[in-house]
Amino acid sequence: MTVPKSTPSLKVAIVGGGPGGLGTAIALQTIPNVEVTIYEQASVLREVGAGISIGSNSWKVLELLGVADGVDTGHETWTVLNLGLGRNGQSGQERTKLQSALLSAVNPGTIKLSKKLVHMEDHGPAGVTLAFKDGTTTTVDLVVGADGIRSVVRDIAFPSYPDTLKFTGTTIWRTLLPWAAVSDLDPRFSTTAWWHTPTTHVYFSPVGEGLWEIAARAWHDPKVHSASKVSWGVPVTNEHVESHFNEYLPQIREALSRVPSGGWREFAAFAGPEMPTLTAWSNRIVLVGDSSHALSGAFGSGAGFAMEDGWILAQALAYHSNDTSRALNLFNAIRLPYYAKMYKHLADQTAQRAKNLENTRVPAFDEQVKSKVISDGGGGLDWIYHNNIEHVWNSAIEKGNGELSKPGAIYSSNQSASL
Ligand SMILES: Cc1cc2nc3c(=O)[nH]c(=O)nc-3n(C[C@H](O)[C@H](O)[C@H](O)COP(=O)(O)OP(=O)(O)OC[C@H]3O[C@@H](n4cnc5c(N)ncnc54)[C@H](O)[C@@H]3O)c2cc1C
Repeated sequence: MTVPKSTPSLKVAIVGGGPGGLGTAIALQTIPNVEVTIYEQASVLREVGAGISIGSNSWKVLELLGVADGVDTGHETWTVLNLGLGRNGQSGQERTKLQSALLSAVNPGTIKLSKKLVHMEDHGPAGVTLAFKDGTTTTVDLVVGADGIRSVVRDIAFPSYPDTLKFTGTTIWRTLLPWAAVSDLDPRFSTTAWWHTPTTHVYFSPVGEGLWEIAARAWHDPKVHSASKVSWGVPVTNEHVESHFNEYLPQIREALSRVPSGGWREFAAFAGPEMPTLTAWSNRIVLVGDSSHALSGAFGSGAGFAMEDGWILAQALAYHSNDTSRALNLFNAIRLPYYAKMYKHLADQTAQRAKNLENTRVPAFDEQVKSKVISDGGGGLDWIYHNNIEHVWNSAIEKGNGELSKPGAIYSSNQSASL
């Protein structure tokens, strides 16, 4: 690539080596005159949770990052099953070791482990200094906060934000067990599927290497249950998990009961409010992934969103020849309205659930399940699961010519649905 002489060099620190940080680094390493380093608090990079499901939106960005081949295991299935009503036919689901595929595409020497960010200082045009727990510091032109839902970058750059994370009402339990332990129960269990009741679902999926994943969710009114919810990845008893799924088919209950004792981990989903902007400190800070939209896995596609953020950020910097002010305005203009739409969807969903609980006419079981399947992703969420981030970018440039100064100038509130 020919680099225009006017393109200034840009030293970028990415804080966090999850899908957002790794995806951003892969995208940025193709941009002229950008020097990128990832600072990760962990001493070893591990896969997030028990597995990651990948919809077609995520596949698209993996292709753009050039890592889809490393993730692909060759087939596409995304089937939605529920109690009482059968639905299927979505596509684009796969599970594999996303983190390792991303890692292998990051240039050697980019990642610095055991670097927990504890402090940041703004020196204006001279850059931002990051201070790590081990006593070391570095000064950079641009900080990318890819440090997850409890982001230190966000908490320092947006000091009023940290107190606002709240329990959403959703509790998630995850485990892995040998496929052989459950393969006799139901032929449908060999397919990735969600089984629903009105306020819960159970997700079964073969994840390769002879293993099978169960991820089960239950929603309780957060007004009643929030005080007891602080858990994140803690072991819980089988009885505790099973007690939420008594209404299910016998073979589903049997599958849950075959989880070895001590096998379950509980995650209480927390979420924070919409950010008014994803940038701070005169465009020397930008947030990507969970730090920028604390939705706590709400759409089961957070890794995809995080990588989309990183790819868009890199395109915006390249488009504006590393001018961070113009590039970050463009980034905000593309990503903020998209997240706003997700927040609106969740607010509507929560209001509906609360209304259902109060409703004197309790809808029939099937009616409730149908509405839950639709709101959870069984329909109407193509603007997420089939979002084509390359089209989004091209459309933004065509419409605004990249010369946007104001967030929201690209999307109308429902535009992404048609992209
Ligand atoms: C139970 C559950 C199930 C999910 N299932 C799916 C799924 O199937 N598909 C999907 O796409 N998404 C799923 N998600 C969401 C997905 O895991 C996240 O949205 C995604 O991991 C976000 O990526 P990220 O890079 O923004 O943040 P993270 O993955 O949280 O990564 C943040 C990184 O920053 C590091 N870090 C944090 N603080 C510091 C610091 N101070 N200094 C340095 N490093 C720091 C962390 O160690 C971590 O490595 C699920 C989430 C949950 C909770």
